[in-house]
Amino acid sequence: MITVHPAVFLDRDGVVINNTELVTDYNNIVFEDTAADAIKSFNDIGMKVIIVTNQPQVARGMCSEADIKEINERIRKHFLDKGAVIDHIYFCPHHPEQHSDVPEYARKYRIDCECRKPKTGMITRAIGDHDIDISRSFMIGDRTSDILAGKKAGMKTILVETGSSGKDGKYDVEPDYVCKNIGHAARLVRRNLTTKAVILAGGRGERLMPLTKDIPKPMIGINGKPVLEHQISLLKKYGITEIILCSSYLSGKIKEYFSDGAPFGVRIYYPDEEEPLGTGGAIKNAEKFIGGAESIFVLNGDVMTKINVSDVMDFHERRLHKGYGYVRAS
Ligand SMILES: [Mg+2]
Ligand SMILES: [Zn+2]
Repeated sequence: MITVHPAVFLDRDGVVINNTELVTDYNNIVFEDTAADAIKSFNDIGMKVIIVTNQPQVARGMCSEADIKEINERIRKHFLDKGAVIDHIYFCPHHPEQHSDVPEYARKYRIDCECRKPKTGMITRAIGDHDIDISRSFMIGDRTSDILAGKKAGMKTILVETGSSGKDGKYDVEPDYVCKNIGHAARLVRRNLTTKAVILAGGRGERLMPLTKDIPKPMIGINGKPVLEHQISLLKKYGITEIILCSSYLSGKIKEYFSDGAPFGVRIYYPDEEEPLGTGGAIKNAEKFIGGAESIFVLNGDVMTKINVSDVMDFHERRLHKGYGYVRAS
């Protein structure tokens, strides 16, 4: 059996290092403060860490391909010394524009290649080299070309506000998430891959009769959208996209509206609940869908909240790692 891994594809300049100018000397590199811990946290949850970077200075005649390789190896070593493992660094040395003012050796790099982002050549190579499950993978970059490449390859995308901060405006593309830096992005990725949400949407809503005569309580519209949709948007905003919806009363209406969650950018599971089971019973009944999650976030289906899910999960995780006696969901 081939094991497939989720991967994080990192742009190099403006993400892992803060330089945005074309780097030709390792000694000029300024490392992003949060990068080493971020890479370690990707390592911890079994993600492959792949750097994909455009390095057109070769095509510009500013340095050789060997120079770029050496700089990349030193970057890799820098992180390895801190216990952070980068599995592979791919780079594109090309540039599509023809210029006569470049040295002879650089001219062969002036081609319209398949690897320069936003093309996906480097990503495709990495998928083959490292057995990557692209549907659970992320692209993290500071330019629109990074985001476009990630989207084209079928990944979720995060724009970081370091480096160019997406202000290059080259391509018209929206990232799935925007994070302050690679450290914040790592927390979001971790949450996405290790946390599931359970929404308890089983109540009859008798006190809301006759509003709940034909629809279940969590489907009541507020500001044009069912309460449940507000909750799903909230979870998605904080990176939680695996959602277990426990319902019984008029559950068909909920399934009809949300289906498998794809139109809402999440994945929804429905444990069958023949009769109302209450809070504990519903969670227990959802067990088979919870499996594999490190943490679960439980929400009542009839609350409107703008709670900062990230802060709540961080608090929970700090306690979990201190061993405060939480039971791991597995
Ligand atoms: Mg960049
Ligand atoms: Zn290339």
